[in-house]
Amino acid sequence: MPYVVTQSCCGDASCVVACPVNCIHPAPGEPGFLESEMVYVDAAACVDCGACTTACPVDAIKPHTMLTEAELPFIALAESYYQEFPHADRLPLAIVPKVERYDGAPVRVAIVGAGPAAMYAADELLKHPGISVDVIDQLPTPHGLVRAGVAPDHQRTKAVAKLFDAIERERGFGYLLGVEVGRDIRHDDLRAHYHAVIYATGASRDRTLGIEGEDMAGSTSATAVVGWYNGHPDHQDAYVDLGGDRVVVVGNGNVALDVARVLTADPGALATTDIADLALATLRGSAVREVVVLGRRGPEHAAFTMPELVGLANLTDVDLVVDNGGAAIPENTPKTRLLAELSRRTPRAGRRRIVLRFHAAPVRILGDGVVDAVEIARTETTPEGIVLTDDRELLATTMVLRSVGYRGVPVPGLPFDEASATVPHDHGRVEPGVYVTGWIKRGPSGFIGTNKTCAQETVAGLIEDLLAGRLAQPRGGREELVRKARAARPELIDLEGWRVLDRIERERGRESGRPRVKFTEPAEMVAAVTGATSATGR
Ligand code: NAP
Repeated sequence: MPYVVTQSCCGDASCVVACPVNCIHPAPGEPGFLESEMVYVDAAACVDCGACTTACPVDAIKPHTMLTEAELPFIALAESYYQEFPHADRLPLAIVPKVERYDGAPVRVAIVGAGPAAMYAADELLKHPGISVDVIDQLPTPHGLVRAGVAPDHQRTKAVAKLFDAIERERGFGYLLGVEVGRDIRHDDLRAHYHAVIYATGASRDRTLGIEGEDMAGSTSATAVVGWYNGHPDHQDAYVDLGGDRVVVVGNGNVALDVARVLTADPGALATTDIADLALATLRGSAVREVVVLGRRGPEHAAFTMPELVGLANLTDVDLVVDNGGAAIPENTPKTRLLAELSRRTPRAGRRRIVLRFHAAPVRILGDGVVDAVEIARTETTPEGIVLTDDRELLATTMVLRSVGYRGVPVPGLPFDEASATVPHDHGRVEPGVYVTGWIKRGPSGFIGTNKTCAQETVAGLIEDLLAGRLAQPRGGREELVRKARAARPELIDLEGWRVLDRIERERGRESGRPRVKFTEPAEMVAAVTGATSATGR
């Protein structure tokens, strides 16, 4: 049992490509890869070479001898995966689409969005010597959800930013940050100045519940709270009241678990992370003792993934309580087996706790202008769907956070499918010259690394169009577009500017034993970049 994949697996499958004996599955292209919660090393086939550990961007793979107590369940998880999917043939797979290398006349591609989907797309494009890219984002900082979404106590997952640093160093990479497409420059401008445009704009809007009281102070989205504790400039004034002893989170995906964990965490431990200072100060004064996570269906339909549940179950200072309303939990998958085991645990008095409640849906949020309770209905799952029963309960709380998934927003100038909240496409191609990747292409699902295979598919289509002569020659040059963007946004931050900002944040972190201390105000960021560059005479 040499190597084991652990909780921070990002699913980008770099390890699969690095493995000389094809012992990591499911691999891209294999059935189940896109739906899989992580990849697993087959102990029977692993030759203990360590190539996977070197390739993993988030340090998720360890020799079994190096596992912590909390990571030991990942051995059983891998065993259980290979019992179900033996992969007996062990044939090497054609996992990376074969794309002809382009090294002809210079070609420029604009990528809109600077999150993981954009960075993986840039990486794929820059493998072609003739191609350069400009990554454009409305925020003054790049890396999207890695900076503003991944929970601060998941620093190993955030380590994927090291891979992004390496991509930024590739020849031909550029940033135009703090520039909004649709406001400062238009889709048509990009079409006129680049050979191709890839939209990697994600799914930035949160979904709503549509219940009474949802707009009251104290009822907000988990997205806002995630942005708040991660220093996202748009969420620094989010209404976050931690003066009550209970917070209720609606929905039980991984975002819900992230929020529950951060709101019950020891602020002393969070103080060693890159959490926003404002959030840290608020959490230090928090009265919250319990976060209740509501799942409208049963344990067998829980949306959180097994690695995240294992992480939660191993918290040493917070109790995890599983409440299935007294009903037995069917123990037929690794996840339901663990949930059943957790449901038999006795909570320890005096500890903060996270309660995973099942078959519980909110029907009304109550309060006199500010939330003081939520009415919950017990549900039944029938073949026709989820049915609310008359079994109701009022749960006192000062905050209700909906964590019921994200929605993509229309991209000005592109078609949009309202039902899926994505841009209609064929393998990432909207039309020759216009492409999509990431959540705006496939909806809000999967992990950071899922964007790698997604980007490979999109870029393969773009290269095919390029080689077939289907990409129009741009009318204007890059400098013209940058001038236009700067005219609209004089404070635009380029690659050099981001490097300055990144360095300052890390330096501020070093002084206080943290990975970085983030700027959270765009004006502060611009001032820091301007100050540093004028001081060095750049
Ligand atoms: P999600 O996984 O889609 O979960 C959404 C949850 O909301 C589900 O429990 C869903 O229940 C529930 N829901 C939807 N509509 C509802 C309603 N009207 N009333 C009550 N409940 C409702 O979404 P997410 O947590 O936002 O995560 C998005 C993606 O990011 C996922 O792929 C996730 O794995 C990924 N992510 C990963 C990590 C990580 O790996 N650490 C961290 C954060 C996010 P039903 O199932 O019944 O619809």
